[in-house]
Amino acid sequence: MVTGMSNMEVRNANRDHILQVIRENGMLTKKDISLKLNLSLATVTSLIKELVEEGLVEAGKASDSTGGRKPILYQPVADARISLGIALSRHHIRMVLANWNQKIFKSESFKIAYENTEAYWADLRKLVDEFLEVEYEEDGCFKGIGICIQGIIPPGNNWDDIIPVELFEGIRMDEIKKLFPCPVFFFENMKAAAYSQIGEPGQRRRTVYLQLDRLVGGAVVADGTFWGLSERTGEFGHMIIRDDGDACYCGQRGCLQTCCSSEVLRDKSGLDLPGFFEALERQDPVCRELWEDYLKYLVRAIRNLKVIFDIDITLGGEMVPYLKKYERRLTKMLAEMDLYKEPVMYLKFSEGGALDAAIGAAHLIFERV
Ligand SMILES: [Zn+2]
Repeated sequence: MVTGMSNMEVRNANRDHILQVIRENGMLTKKDISLKLNLSLATVTSLIKELVEEGLVEAGKASDSTGGRKPILYQPVADARISLGIALSRHHIRMVLANWNQKIFKSESFKIAYENTEAYWADLRKLVDEFLEVEYEEDGCFKGIGICIQGIIPPGNNWDDIIPVELFEGIRMDEIKKLFPCPVFFFENMKAAAYSQIGEPGQRRRTVYLQLDRLVGGAVVADGTFWGLSERTGEFGHMIIRDDGDACYCGQRGCLQTCCSSEVLRDKSGLDLPGFFEALERQDPVCRELWEDYLKYLVRAIRNLKVIFDIDITLGGEMVPYLKKYERRLTKMLAEMDLYKEPVMYLKFSEGGALDAAIGAAHLIFERV
């Protein structure tokens, strides 16, 4: 029950809570909702009726209660809410159109290098218009656009209260928001990517998410949120892992970022990722040495994370499709180092790979609207 508000405000807040609890849990009876939210059955019945009429909630199958009339289970209408997630990076623009039940309708990667120019932002608007294929300003289903960039979240702030850094320093978020005829939110790239692993409503996951992309990082995902005192957990990229390692942009040497970023493979081989792995298949000696080092330090990092957290470790980011081909090798290397000499069952790969951040941003929209 919400207090200190007008009757209409209380009603709207209760309505939002009901919608949220149905989204979060999947199938619920009116009685379940009434107990979870401490609301009267009459209030729940009236607000559910409204949500059903608006097409946001639908009556599903009857529940399995014993004897008597079986109460109806209510569930969210999956396509009632749609959002667009966009991840911007040095080399790509990636887009994902998703509904609030985490179904992805459409996704695409464009090889367009980032630059903070009017032409780039105008091109982004054009790409969005073409990608969505519909008018999106007046559409009640479409809830907005989430754009991921690299940034810092000041302590105590929200995920969408970020200060752009590095590549994105100097971008004018307010100006960019005005380019689109719908709500636009900016999210921190790594947190959005980790959010893609949070799991479906009613089936929340618990995993360490290790993103292996241009930047290395992640988060510990559990119970529908991130572990930690602030929004800064999971800076795995700055675990120091190599004594004689290269200088990291954080000021230290030998961080995981300097060993396992996709950029390391690009910079040191002078090839793009497909080119690097083609050369590796041809047994190119430079690429072989780089790859052996990459795997050695990655396995060290995964092993450390497993020893600390003892939960699944999910690898994400643009390295996923390449690493999947080396899954047996990775598993074998990890098994040899396993503390309890047990088979490696905890290593997972994100389904989105390079699209993780865009997927997470699309989902995060529904936390904001
Ligand atoms: Zn570092």
